[in-house]
Amino acid sequence: MGKLDGRVVIITGAARGQGEQEARLFRAEGAAVVVADVLDDQGESLAKEIGATYVHLDVGEEADWQAAVAAAKETYGRLDGLVNNAGILRFNTLADTPLDEFMQVVRVNQVGCFLGIKSVATELADGGTIVNTASYTGLTGMAAVGAYAATKHAVLGLTRVAALELADRGIRVNAMCPGAIDTAMSNPAQLDPNADAAEMTEALDGLYRKLVPLGRIGRPEEVARLALFLTCADSSYITGQPFVIDGGWLAGVSVV
Ligand code: NAD
Repeated sequence: MGKLDGRVVIITGAARGQGEQEARLFRAEGAAVVVADVLDDQGESLAKEIGATYVHLDVGEEADWQAAVAAAKETYGRLDGLVNNAGILRFNTLADTPLDEFMQVVRVNQVGCFLGIKSVATELADGGTIVNTASYTGLTGMAAVGAYAATKHAVLGLTRVAALELADRGIRVNAMCPGAIDTAMSNPAQLDPNADAAEMTEALDGLYRKLVPLGRIGRPEEVARLALFLTCADSSYITGQPFVIDGGWLAGVSVV
């Protein structure tokens, strides 16, 4: 028995990183999964490997959302869940951030989450779930990621409002707030095919040893387990909440 037997879930940005691990875990727990991304080759190959369906979905495009939801329903006959995972990060101080760059981040992280909720709201079966991927920076500030932090704060607002609006159908909406997680986003060197992944993770663990109480960077598989908890019946009485998964980073500062 899997924790998601019989459920149909769309996961955005699922071609790699946290979304990929969510797709793998959800399949292993019995869900039918729609892998959605703009990285078509990677997404298609993952979907083939795990027995999922791939759809090209740019989360900022409403027509892509309609097509993705239609594909999920045509292929599997129903829709029970959405993980809004797709996101982008840009580094700049606010003073140096061009408006175009700010809007690009808003389009993917904030508009993408809004369109996801809007597109599935009437299509989800009663008792369905939405898990939005916010961030540690959805709850606190971090210099040089102003556009990103603004959108992740917005994701928490969308999460709370959606939870209130969809509760009467038993649809639960929660958010994950990861700290630093070992994916291409926090470690772009991962995209280099010649790079040694284990070596890079070790180097990152070294960097985060001092910053994070648990002394290492998080793993995408750990975030996937939180997404599973929020999508399955184990979290049946939880809605509208942000869940921090950050190795204790947000707990406070230590002077010893
Ligand atoms: P990642 O860069 O490996 O994955 C992001 C995925 O989103 C990629 O597959 C990418 O192709 C996809 N994507 C980007 N723009 C898209 C668009 N317009 N439409 C559809 N898909 C698109 O990074 P990740 O760490 O796996 O990121 C997953 C989520 O976790 C993001 O929302 C990110 O903001 C959040 N997050 C990451 C960290 C971290 O340290 N890695 C920390 C906190 C929150």
